[in-house]
Amino acid sequence: MLARLKVHRESLLQCRRCPDMIGPVVSGAAVTTRIYFIGQAPGPREGELGKPFAWTAGKRLFSWFETLGVSEEEFRAKVYIAAVARCFPGKAKKGGGDRVPSREEVEQCAMWMSEEVRIIRPKLVIAVGRLAIEQVRGDKLGLLEEAVGEVRRARFFDHDVDYVALPHPSGLSSWHKTEPGKTLLTKALTALRVHEAWRATFE
Ligand code: SF4
Repeated sequence: MLARLKVHRESLLQCRRCPDMIGPVVSGAAVTTRIYFIGQAPGPREGELGKPFAWTAGKRLFSWFETLGVSEEEFRAKVYIAAVARCFPGKAKKGGGDRVPSREEVEQCAMWMSEEVRIIRPKLVIAVGRLAIEQVRGDKLGLLEEAVGEVRRARFFDHDVDYVALPHPSGLSSWHKTEPGKTLLTKALTALRVHEAWRATFE
Protein backbone atom coordinates (compact mmCIF):
# COMPACT_ATOMS: atom_id res chain seq x y z
CA MET A 1 0.00 0.00 0.00
CA LEU A 2 2.69 2.48 1.01
CA ALA A 3 4.69 2.32 -2.23
CA ARG A 4 1.54 2.75 -4.34
CA LEU A 5 0.39 5.66 -2.21
CA LYS A 6 3.77 7.38 -2.57
CA VAL A 7 3.62 7.10 -6.36
CA HIS A 8 0.01 8.30 -6.31
CA ARG A 9 0.88 11.28 -4.12
CA GLU A 10 3.72 12.35 -6.42
CA SER A 11 1.26 12.48 -9.34
CA LEU A 12 -1.34 14.28 -7.22
CA LEU A 13 1.13 17.00 -6.27
CA GLN A 14 1.63 17.77 -9.99
CA CYS A 15 -2.09 18.23 -10.70
CA ARG A 16 -3.15 21.53 -12.31
CA ARG A 17 -6.57 20.55 -13.64
CA CYS A 18 -8.67 23.34 -12.15
CA PRO A 19 -8.00 26.79 -13.62
CA ASP A 20 -9.60 28.70 -10.74
CA MET A 21 -7.77 26.84 -7.99
CA ILE A 22 -4.62 28.24 -6.41
CA GLY A 23 -1.71 25.82 -5.99
CA PRO A 24 0.24 24.16 -4.66
CA VAL A 25 -1.64 20.93 -4.14
CA VAL A 26 -1.85 20.09 -0.44
CA SER A 27 -2.18 16.52 0.73
CA GLY A 28 -1.35 14.51 3.84
CA ALA A 29 1.56 12.11 3.93
CA ALA A 30 1.38 8.68 2.33
CA VAL A 31 0.78 6.34 5.26
CA THR A 32 -0.32 2.74 5.69
CA THR A 33 -3.68 3.05 7.38
CA ARG A 34 -7.24 1.81 7.90
CA ILE A 35 -8.58 5.34 8.36
CA TYR A 36 -9.24 7.82 5.55
CA PHE A 37 -9.89 11.42 6.55
CA ILE A 38 -11.65 13.96 4.29
CA GLY A 39 -11.59 17.71 4.80
CA GLN A 40 -12.99 20.40 2.48
CA ALA A 41 -10.02 22.23 0.94
CA PRO A 42 -6.81 23.85 2.17
CA GLY A 43 -6.85 27.45 3.32
CA PRO A 44 -4.42 30.20 2.27
CA ARG A 45 -1.63 29.12 4.66
CA GLU A 46 -1.55 25.37 4.09
CA GLY A 47 0.23 25.60 0.73
CA GLU A 48 3.30 27.32 2.15
CA LEU A 49 3.23 25.09 5.24
CA GLY A 50 2.94 21.98 3.07
CA LYS A 51 0.29 20.07 4.99
CA PRO A 52 -3.49 20.11 5.45
CA PHE A 53 -5.07 21.61 8.55
CA ALA A 54 -1.85 23.43 9.41
CA TRP A 55 -3.52 26.67 10.60
CA THR A 56 -6.38 27.74 12.88
CA ALA A 57 -9.01 25.17 11.81
CA GLY A 58 -6.37 22.49 12.32
CA LYS A 59 -5.70 23.66 15.87
CA ARG A 60 -9.35 23.13 16.74
CA LEU A 61 -9.58 19.85 14.83
CA PHE A 62 -6.55 18.33 16.52
CA SER A 63 -7.72 19.57 19.91
CA TRP A 64 -10.79 17.36 19.40
CA PHE A 65 -8.59 14.31 18.76
CA GLU A 66 -6.42 15.20 21.76
CA THR A 67 -9.51 14.65 23.93
CA LEU A 68 -9.29 11.04 22.66
CA GLY A 69 -5.62 10.81 23.63
CA VAL A 70 -4.26 11.21 20.09
CA SER A 71 -1.78 13.99 19.33
CA GLU A 72 -1.61 15.87 16.04
CA GLU A 73 1.71 14.19 15.21
CA GLU A 74 0.33 10.73 15.82
CA PHE A 75 -2.82 11.43 13.84
CA ARG A 76 -0.83 12.73 10.85
CA ALA A 77 1.47 9.70 11.02
CA LYS A 78 -1.33 7.13 11.10
CA VAL A 79 -4.24 8.53 9.08
CA TYR A 80 -4.36 9.45 5.38
CA ILE A 81 -5.55 13.06 5.24
CA ALA A 82 -7.38 13.89 2.02
CA ALA A 83 -9.85 16.60 1.02
CA VAL A 84 -12.73 17.15 -1.36
CA ALA A 85 -10.43 19.63 -3.15
CA ARG A 86 -6.67 19.64 -2.67
CA CYS A 87 -5.94 23.22 -3.74
CA PHE A 88 -6.84 26.55 -2.16
CA PRO A 89 -10.03 27.85 -3.82
CA GLY A 90 -9.29 31.53 -3.03
CA LYS A 91 -11.36 33.89 -0.96
CA ALA A 92 -15.13 34.09 -1.41
CA LYS A 93 -16.11 37.15 -3.46
CA LYS A 94 -18.71 38.25 -0.93
CA GLY A 95 -16.37 37.81 2.04
CA GLY A 96 -16.99 35.43 4.92
CA GLY A 97 -14.08 33.10 4.35
CA ASP A 98 -12.75 30.90 1.57
CA ARG A 99 -14.60 30.14 -1.66
CA VAL A 100 -16.45 26.85 -1.57
CA PRO A 101 -15.09 24.54 -4.30
CA SER A 102 -17.47 24.29 -7.25
CA ARG A 103 -19.23 21.06 -8.16
CA GLU A 104 -16.97 20.73 -11.21
CA GLU A 105 -13.85 21.11 -9.08
CA VAL A 106 -15.09 18.54 -6.59
CA GLU A 107 -15.79 16.16 -9.47
CA GLN A 108 -12.33 16.75 -10.96
CA CYS A 109 -10.63 16.12 -7.65
CA ALA A 110 -12.70 13.01 -6.93
CA MET A 111 -10.49 11.15 -9.38
CA TRP A 112 -7.68 11.34 -6.83
CA MET A 113 -9.94 10.26 -4.01
CA SER A 114 -11.25 7.32 -5.97
CA GLU A 115 -7.71 6.08 -6.55
CA GLU A 116 -6.81 6.50 -2.86
CA VAL A 117 -9.86 4.52 -1.75
CA ARG A 118 -8.94 1.79 -4.23
CA ILE A 119 -5.41 1.59 -2.77
CA ILE A 120 -6.22 2.00 0.94
CA ARG A 121 -9.61 0.22 1.13
CA PRO A 122 -10.34 2.04 4.40
CA LYS A 123 -12.41 0.55 7.20
CA LEU A 124 -13.32 3.95 8.59
CA VAL A 125 -13.80 7.34 6.94
CA ILE A 126 -13.82 10.56 8.96
CA ALA A 127 -15.64 13.27 7.02
CA VAL A 128 -15.26 16.83 8.23
CA GLY A 129 -17.72 19.47 7.11
CA ARG A 130 -20.70 19.42 4.77
CA LEU A 131 -18.89 18.88 1.44
CA ALA A 132 -16.85 15.99 2.81
CA ILE A 133 -19.90 14.39 4.41
CA GLU A 134 -21.82 14.68 1.13
CA GLN A 135 -18.87 13.13 -0.69
CA VAL A 136 -18.94 9.99 1.43
CA ARG A 137 -22.76 9.76 1.56
CA GLY A 138 -23.07 10.32 -2.16
CA ASP A 139 -26.03 12.66 -1.70
CA LYS A 140 -27.00 16.09 -0.46
CA LEU A 141 -27.17 16.66 3.27
CA GLY A 142 -29.99 18.65 4.84
CA LEU A 143 -29.01 19.52 8.40
CA LEU A 144 -25.65 18.56 9.89
CA GLU A 145 -27.66 17.00 12.71
CA GLU A 146 -28.69 14.25 10.27
CA ALA A 147 -25.11 13.03 9.93
CA VAL A 148 -23.07 13.90 13.03
CA GLY A 149 -23.22 11.82 16.22
CA GLU A 150 -22.86 8.15 15.31
CA VAL A 151 -21.17 5.65 13.03
CA ARG A 152 -22.97 5.28 9.68
CA ARG A 153 -22.44 3.08 6.65
CA ALA A 154 -21.89 4.20 3.08
CA ARG A 155 -20.91 2.86 -0.29
CA PHE A 156 -17.89 5.02 -1.06
CA PHE A 157 -16.30 4.65 -4.49
CA ASP A 158 -17.57 1.06 -4.74
CA HIS A 159 -16.24 0.22 -1.30
CA ASP A 160 -18.33 -0.31 1.86
CA VAL A 161 -17.14 1.83 4.77
CA ASP A 162 -18.16 3.03 8.19
CA TYR A 163 -18.03 6.78 8.43
CA VAL A 164 -18.11 9.29 11.23
CA ALA A 165 -19.12 12.83 10.32
CA LEU A 166 -17.72 15.83 12.16
CA PRO A 167 -18.56 19.52 11.81
CA HIS A 168 -16.02 21.77 10.10
CA PRO A 169 -13.67 23.20 12.74
CA SER A 170 -13.43 26.58 11.01
CA GLY A 171 -13.67 29.62 13.26
CA LEU A 172 -16.54 30.79 11.03
CA SER A 173 -18.75 27.95 12.21
CA SER A 174 -20.43 28.04 15.60
CA TRP A 175 -22.43 24.83 15.07
CA HIS A 176 -20.24 22.75 17.38
CA LYS A 177 -20.33 25.38 20.14
CA THR A 178 -24.10 25.45 20.59
CA GLU A 179 -26.73 22.74 21.10
CA PRO A 180 -27.46 20.29 19.63
CA GLY A 181 -24.05 20.54 17.90
CA LYS A 182 -22.05 20.42 21.12
CA THR A 183 -23.63 17.17 22.27
CA LEU A 184 -23.53 15.62 18.80
CA LEU A 185 -19.82 16.41 18.44
CA THR A 186 -19.13 14.69 21.78
CA LYS A 187 -21.15 11.67 20.62
CA ALA A 188 -19.26 11.56 17.31
CA LEU A 189 -15.88 11.66 19.06
CA THR A 190 -16.99 8.88 21.41
CA ALA A 191 -18.11 6.84 18.39
CA LEU A 192 -14.64 7.32 16.92
CA ARG A 193 -12.87 6.31 20.11
CA VAL A 194 -14.68 2.97 20.35
CA HIS A 195 -14.56 2.16 16.64
CA GLU A 196 -12.57 -0.97 15.85
CA ALA A 197 -10.39 0.78 13.24
CA TRP A 198 -9.63 3.69 15.58
CA ARG A 199 -8.71 1.32 18.41
CA ALA A 200 -6.53 -0.82 16.17
CA THR A 201 -4.75 2.32 15.00
CA PHE A 202 -4.26 4.20 18.24
CA GLU A 203 -4.40 1.74 21.16
S1 SF4 B 1 -8.35 20.85 -6.76
FE1 SF4 B 1 -7.77 18.71 -7.18
S2 SF4 B 1 -8.26 18.34 -9.35
FE2 SF4 B 1 -8.22 20.58 -9.01
S3 SF4 B 1 -6.10 21.21 -9.50
FE3 SF4 B 1 -6.15 20.84 -7.29
S4 SF4 B 1 -5.55 18.67 -7.04
FE4 SF4 B 1 -6.09 18.98 -9.20
